[in-house]
Amino acid sequence: MTDLTPDRLRQEALLLVPDVTLTPEGPLELHAVLVRDGVFHDVGPVERMVRTYPAPTPVRLPGHVLMPGFVDAHHHLTQSFGGALAFGEPSEIFRRVWVPLERALDEESAYVAAKLAALESLRGGFTTVAESGTRATVDVDVVASAARDAGIRCVLGLVCNDASDGTGQDADPRAVLAAAERHLAHYGDDDLVRASLAVSVPEAATAPTLAATARLAAEAGAVVQIHVNEHLVAVERSLVRHGLRPLEYLHQVGALGPQLLAAHATLLTPAEVTLLADGGAAVSYNPVASAWKGNAVAPATTFAERGIRFGLGTDGTRGDGFRLADAAEFAQRLTHGLASGDSSCGAGWTWWERATAGGADAVGLGARTGRVAPGAAADFLLVDVGGPEMQPSWDLPWELVRRGNRDQLTAVFVAGRLRLWRGWPPDWDGPALVRRAAELAPRVVRRAGVTRAHPTSVAARQRTAMSARAADQSHDASEAPPTAGTPSRAGAPAAGSVGTPEGSLTTAPLPAGPTPAFPAVPCRGGRR
Ligand SMILES: [Zn+2]
Repeated sequence: MTDLTPDRLRQEALLLVPDVTLTPEGPLELHAVLVRDGVFHDVGPVERMVRTYPAPTPVRLPGHVLMPGFVDAHHHLTQSFGGALAFGEPSEIFRRVWVPLERALDEESAYVAAKLAALESLRGGFTTVAESGTRATVDVDVVASAARDAGIRCVLGLVCNDASDGTGQDADPRAVLAAAERHLAHYGDDDLVRASLAVSVPEAATAPTLAATARLAAEAGAVVQIHVNEHLVAVERSLVRHGLRPLEYLHQVGALGPQLLAAHATLLTPAEVTLLADGGAAVSYNPVASAWKGNAVAPATTFAERGIRFGLGTDGTRGDGFRLADAAEFAQRLTHGLASGDSSCGAGWTWWERATAGGADAVGLGARTGRVAPGAAADFLLVDVGGPEMQPSWDLPWELVRRGNRDQLTAVFVAGRLRLWRGWPPDWDGPALVRRAAELAPRVVRRAGVTRAHPTSVAARQRTAMSARAADQSHDASEAPPTAGTPSRAGAPAAGSVGTPEGSLTTAPLPAGPTPAFPAVPCRGGRR
């Protein structure tokens, strides 16, 4: 590989000869790939390809696998400034962190946040992201520009909420649907951006609007992205309001069909699994989001068995396709495989396929991307498998899922163009973007006024230590004559106290600690 340079990969047409090509039929050795006009023009045995195509000069890629780029079936590009602000938070973070944060974005910061997320995604091997609808008040075309400029394929959701759901105001459904129609028509010939509609959660839109968005998207061949059955509190709200669980409600109002891309779908009854299977809807299985903020893990091995369409999504947690695929398998193993003795748990192939072609299908791009095959968009990765982590190789899909790592990515291509070379864009200044984001993010977060229920991990540790000290003092005091001001009993909650990571509460007033990075003030709410 010493003679491989980015310039050799920045040609109009490329005849690439990796050690292994990952195709829908499986890993194939001694195969070559011709990339021309942004698509895989041909894929076949090296001997035939070289004979058939005397030009361009073959680029040999020893020690490399050529595989389709990952598809992130659920993302929020304009939430990238939040990052660890959401770590340790209880569910429905959108109310306290994400909605205020996005609504504090202006045009520049929205663009930078979205481009930052797109760059992180590309660095993690994603060549497509499904952006599930920003709540920023800027034109959604700002997000499209950021994705396009970063060079990532984007399924761009437009939020079509018309019900307040207690976080904002109702909107005129006629205006919402007119905007939806304009959005669906706007990106028809765009090379990288595909329009999509979005409803934050079923309760954020009226029944007629849910039905209308489903119809508009189906007519346009687009998807409607909706967070579905993610949190227990949301399931119970739906039950109280409609007597139906969220997915059942979508079915009742005519919004459950092949156009639906249901994000999460973690808290499902067997009947709802059947609704998904019968309705032809797709799911974004988001295992890292489940672990970090959810109430359950989606039954993805059951989805696979029942023929339910699904891909993998990050939900903006971290843009690393390898770690996502690993988490997808790992979460199934912990929640289902161990209990049933299912040592295969889908095998490597299930999770690798769901991270690529399955995701492309779920986001409505199954005919366009997600596989290395003639006619498909040339969205692919060159993965260095020459290191000790990947050798000797016995089962490449398993190895990529369990041992693959983004630092093995030599190159990332989208639509046949080199977008990243060893982690950074060859055509634009990636480090400068990261620096600009670091300047803008603190300002945005300050004016957003987010509310956090959990302190930073450092503060949480200090609180734990202080709780322990308070308990010791209380214990000492109980053995000594009482003095004024000594708490009479430890362990009872005190108003305003904050839970520690261990969940303990304290009655002792907490000594003044370090100033939190971001003061906890009520969020301003707003329409999602
Ligand atoms: Zn989400």
